[in-house]
Amino acid sequence: METFLEIQSKAKRLEALIHLSNNIMEKEKRMPIPFNDFLYLSSKNPELVFRNIYQLFHDMVHHYVPEGKDEFSRDNEHIGFVDYDTSVLLSQDCDDPFFSDRLFANRFMNLINDFRKGSNTNRIYIFEGPPGSGKSTFLNNLLHKFEEYTKKPEGVSYKTYWRLDIEKLGGFQSKEMQKYRIEEEKHKEKKEAANTSILNFPEKYLEFSCPNHDHPVLQIPKPFRRQFLEELIPEGEFKQKMFNDREYEWIFKDVPCSICSSIAKTLMDRLGDPLAVFSMINARKNYYNRQLGEGISVFNPGDPLCRENLSKPSLQYMINDLLKNDEVNYSFSYLAKTNNGVLALMDIKEYNVERLKAYHGIISDGVHKVDLTEEYIRTLFIGLVNPEDKIHYVDIKSFQDRIISVIIPYVLDYNTEVAIYTEKFNESILHTFLPGVLSNFAKIIIATRLENDAPALKKWINKPDKYSKYLDKNLLLLKMEIYNGKIPEWLSEDDIKRFNKAMRKDVLAQSEMEGRKGISGRRSLWVFNEFYSLHRNTNRLITMDDVKKYFENKKDDADVDVPDDFIEKLIDLYDYDVLQQVKDAIYFFNKKHISDDIANYLFAINFEIGDTKRNETTGDVIVVTEEYLETFEARILGKSNTPTTQKALRRETFNEYVSDTLSQEIRLEGKKVFDTKLFKALFDKYTRNLKENALAPYAKNENFRRAILDYGTSQFQTYDERLKRDVSYMIENLQSKFGYNEIGATQVSIYVLDKDLPNKY
Ligand SMILES: [Zn+2]
Repeated sequence: METFLEIQSKAKRLEALIHLSNNIMEKEKRMPIPFNDFLYLSSKNPELVFRNIYQLFHDMVHHYVPEGKDEFSRDNEHIGFVDYDTSVLLSQDCDDPFFSDRLFANRFMNLINDFRKGSNTNRIYIFEGPPGSGKSTFLNNLLHKFEEYTKKPEGVSYKTYWRLDIEKLGGFQSKEMQKYRIEEEKHKEKKEAANTSILNFPEKYLEFSCPNHDHPVLQIPKPFRRQFLEELIPEGEFKQKMFNDREYEWIFKDVPCSICSSIAKTLMDRLGDPLAVFSMINARKNYYNRQLGEGISVFNPGDPLCRENLSKPSLQYMINDLLKNDEVNYSFSYLAKTNNGVLALMDIKEYNVERLKAYHGIISDGVHKVDLTEEYIRTLFIGLVNPEDKIHYVDIKSFQDRIISVIIPYVLDYNTEVAIYTEKFNESILHTFLPGVLSNFAKIIIATRLENDAPALKKWINKPDKYSKYLDKNLLLLKMEIYNGKIPEWLSEDDIKRFNKAMRKDVLAQSEMEGRKGISGRRSLWVFNEFYSLHRNTNRLITMDDVKKYFENKKDDADVDVPDDFIEKLIDLYDYDVLQQVKDAIYFFNKKHISDDIANYLFAINFEIGDTKRNETTGDVIVVTEEYLETFEARILGKSNTPTTQKALRRETFNEYVSDTLSQEIRLEGKKVFDTKLFKALFDKYTRNLKENALAPYAKNENFRRAILDYGTSQFQTYDERLKRDVSYMIENLQSKFGYNEIGATQVSIYVLDKDLPNKY
């Protein structure tokens, strides 16, 4: 009998075998296809077939990044500051995930969208970020996903593949002779035998790829290409784009490499018939592999320069032999390997400075000289640079219009920062903090990275004093929300209105200068770890006080540079939030009770003081007294309750009831009183005020405080019924509505009482 383990290991071996054979099949699928079939494919699926490296890369990014959302769009003032989800592209299935915040995601996606416009092709894209910003992780993951994409059906791209018909070209000249020589050499057991015996003359076809990965369409001679494609590509939207848009200009403008050109010319001379030449051209799927430097190459600063040309002597020998001349020079530079591919420089220093300068020349001319021939280079050049290494090229004037810089600063979004902590330290850290506290920890880290100056924000918020209860004087707390694409609820209607398109653009433009100082991405993990180790083993949850104390002790660290009032205001804002939560949790909402109260009031104000009437809607009999009306008015007005406001409320409610509610909505439109505008407005006001004052009876109640501390113990049973009900209700609501656990719920309730927050706000 086989044991379970044996069966399992057998299954695993089988799985590995299937995997291997799939890989082989994948290779098989790269079988060359005759030029005719390729043309058929082109006419059937031109969007997929006609893609240069920029278009392919663009499609790759959009394959992994779904269409973003722009929450601002509701008011026609959106500026394309979109919420993109880059997780599949940059973190999923990556050894070391990269998390992009909304600012960087927008910058990156705008850049990628330019790839499809065809205007930015002869450029070097340099991502500039301070050490510890994760830029090399970003690039590694990006290239990893590119490689993965090119192996999918939708990521296919094609190159020229030559398949020279040996018989049609009159066979190899020296084949027989060669065989003889090899035999002879072997006999003599001489060492040179090794060299010559490699020559393995094929029987039917001499096959090889264009080392420059020329797109097969380029093999159609340039003067005939337009006419030819005019007939090949079916009418429609794509054809319009192909013939008119700048992004497809390459199809008509580019020429094949010198190797392909010289082969085509020689074949034409020999065969005298273009169709016979085309019969020897095939298309083959490009194979991208970073490890082998196929289509993707990444150079580190220490990698020595490679100046030598690459060649394949045996192939060269056979080409010369078959074509019976030496017009084809099968030699190319290492740049050929990434033509129609990606070439990346990790850090512009040491040898990579030389490389950058060389590429700059190539990009400017679009041509690279190899011996006497010219290589046309169509490569996506990407580089990474630390700000201090920019000295290697910023002063060179001609570089400025060739280099496109993309800032990749430290993360400026506290949610992203939290996502990084949970990724590195495990999800479980989330349960060791009171809700909101970990985000606030991240906000302090982010604050060190932000500039204190905020001219655009200050232009917008012209009277920041009105928010002084929970906004720091540098407006960092507001800035963080805006950079996340959110407009805080506590802003006034006026200020929200003033945040129009132009203002939004100004505020976001400022972000280009941010995130280059303060606690780096790498160091923030260290800081978090230090803080977390101090508190992880306590039997309570981590609080704002813990965070505050920790950063107070760090004040002297050079990179912990936050404005004096920042942490203070952060805590104020936190206090305000948790107070609302606790109020919300204890507030007992009885919809029927409140609705009946309002309906009875609307009924009663129609009668004289002293009347006794039955309200048919609620079934209640009401004795209309001054006290009856005043009690209701006091409850709905709350803090603003005075004899004057009471009178005004009664008068306005009566007027609206008579002129609108009763005559229009109830009589004409046939609405129930509960569905009228007036009723809804009163209901809103009533519940808001009840909630606002929900905690008032308990704020100074020592029994209430003790009952919270005793919650969950046998001691709790000794309190009176109403108190027990309210405390339980509050603790349960804090858990179900705001994500606390039981310990956290009691902890935050006590926090609110001990800091006397009901009186603070
Ligand atoms: Zn070529």
